[in-house]
Order: sequence, then structure tokens, then C-alpha cells
Amino acid sequence: MAKKLTVVISQGQSKNPRQRSLEEEIAARLVIAGQVEVSLVPHLYDMGADHTGLLFLRGVPGPLVVLSWIYPRAARWVLDRQGVKGREGVSLLRGEDEEFDPESLPEPTGIGSVAPPSRRLYCIDLRVAQSADEVLQEIDRIAREQSEQVVELMSWIGGDPQPQQLERYLAQPAAEPNSLPILPTPQDSEPPKRRWYPVIDYDRCTNCMECIDFCLFGVYGVDTLDRILVEAQDNCKKGCPACSRVCPENAIMFPQHKTPAIAGADGEVAGLKIDLTQLFGGGGEKDALEMAIAERDAELVNDGREAVGASVGIPKRQAGAASRPKDELDDLMDGLDALEF
Ligand code: SF4
Ligand code: SF4
Repeated sequence: MAKKLTVVISQGQSKNPRQRSLEEEIAARLVIAGQVEVSLVPHLYDMGADHTGLLFLRGVPGPLVVLSWIYPRAARWVLDRQGVKGREGVSLLRGEDEEFDPESLPEPTGIGSVAPPSRRLYCIDLRVAQSADEVLQEIDRIAREQSEQVVELMSWIGGDPQPQQLERYLAQPAAEPNSLPILPTPQDSEPPKRRWYPVIDYDRCTNCMECIDFCLFGVYGVDTLDRILVEAQDNCKKGCPACSRVCPENAIMFPQHKTPAIAGADGEVAGLKIDLTQLFGGGGEKDALEMAIAERDAELVNDGREAVGASVGIPKRQAGAASRPKDELDDLMDGLDALEF
């Protein structure tokens, strides 16, 4: 028998009433429609590996839709690293200013995920949703795309429920936030602490190891297949995005960073094409390396250690770039830093 679509809502970190109300409306309407499994978990990025929310996510057998407040690329790889794997499902719910053509997605050039199952994993960024209706329509489209079941959400959205839907609706109490299927775990009463660590996009990562050489805080390691991994997440220094600037593939994301390109946005933001190769090194013109070195030195000094400047762990392909004069791409980077999303 076909497996039912599961929708998991990853709650925002803040108590922003707009965020909470969108999460609750989506959950309530999905529960009432009764066509998909629905669960709420804390913020994806903050859950530790043994959190019950992640244990639940690992146990979902079929196609999975995860709604969260970070970029889909970041959400997908946070999940993959926590053992919640699947082949990438493409969400068509995008920001108004985001140009997106599902027919011309770039081919992955990295080492990829290890043995992902064939089921699809869809990640949707709730920040781009103007209303719960938009999200429900996209979930309905995904459910139909999956051909797993007939989903009747559209009739609810359009205010025209089927008789059996109405019967089911009248038979159950109104959905209160507390009656939603929040996972029964003591940790849920206390949201997990906010965390800060790099997330690698393995569709881009070429396993060049430049990040492990650059970071002097023991964050990176290698797995049994000699693939780079973020081994000690909590060794990373809060607010430091230095290694994302030295990765030649822009494969390192910090989902909470204010700069969209570092937080996991694809190549275009607010109508502005970003040449990521140039912005983040790779032999490009922007001296991202200089920024990375300054950020790393600041963290070393905060730790009571000596600043090392460009004397340690400088990626070979960027050596010599540190003293290049600033150019117009600095202005572009400054502009991006000023964007708040
Ligand atoms: S620097 Fe980037 S591409 Fe190279 S191993 Fe690290 S994450 Fe992968
Ligand atoms: S952001 Fe800084 S501390 Fe964190 S992994 Fe990268 S270089 Fe290391």
C-alpha cells in the first residue's frame, strides 16, 4: 500500500505571533482535512541528534514535507546530516522576487548524500508564504505529484468540502494549538537552545578539505569514507561564518546568517544575480579570504589564543589573494550584509 504523505512543521525560534499563527493555522487545517500525517517539532537546526523530534523524523517511512523558517537547501542538508534522508523534492513555493525554473535546475557537482532512499524529501521555506492557503496548495500539489493518495485539501481551501470531509470535521473538536499532534516529549515544553554550526551542501561539496585546514576550532572531521563532515557542531563559534567564505564551492551554510548567500539562498536574491564563485573565493576577484581571516582571528583572540593571520590553513588556491585590493564586489557584499531576511 502506498505510504501516506507526512508533513512536519518545524517551529520558528522566536515567539513572533505571525510565525506562530501561520504554523498553527497550517497544522489545524491539515489535521481537519485528515489526508496527511501532521506533526510539529522544534526548530530543525536547534535539535540535537537525540532529540525526540529527530527520532520521529528518522522514523517517517514515506514522502516527507518539512516546513521550516530557513532556506530549503539548508533545511535539506540539516536533515540529511541527522539521518533524515531522501531525494530532493522541488517545492514551487518561492519568494515573489525569486526567479525559479524547475526545468533548468543545475546538476549537482558534489559528492552527494550517502545512500539516500528513493522517497522524496520536500523542504519549504515558510518565510516566503503570504498565507496558509499558499502552503496548503503546495502540499496538495506535492501530494498529487507523489500519486500516493487523493488529497482533498483544495475543496477546503475553496470553502467547498466533500460530504465525508464535513462529517469528519463535525465529529471532532475544534483544533486548539494544544490538541495538535505535538510530539509527547518533555523537551518540547522547553524549546532547544539556539545553536550555531556549519551545514555542508554535499551536492556542491567536492571534498577538497579546505575547510578542515582553515578552521582552528576542531569543528570538522572525516567519516569512515574519508568524506568531510561537521564532527563537533558545538565547537563552532557563534556568529563566525569564516569557513563559508573560504569554501570554493559555496557549500558551507549557516542557516541563521543574515547574508542570504551564506544562509543557503540559491544564486539569486531580490532580483540580484550573485556570482557565488567570486563572492566566496575559488580564485575569484573578491577578497572573501581577508574577511575570513579577520573573523577567525577575532575568535582565536576571544578564546585567549594568538591570532594567526594568513599563516595557517590558508587554502592553496587562495594563497596570495589576501592582499588583493578591494573592488566593487566589496560593495556587493556590503549590500548583501545589509539585507535582513
Ligand atoms: S571547503 Fe567546501 S568543498 Fe571543500 S571540503 Fe569543505 S565544504 Fe567541501
Ligand atoms: S565558522 Fe569559524 S569556528 Fe565555525 S567551523 Fe567555520 S571557521 Fe570553524
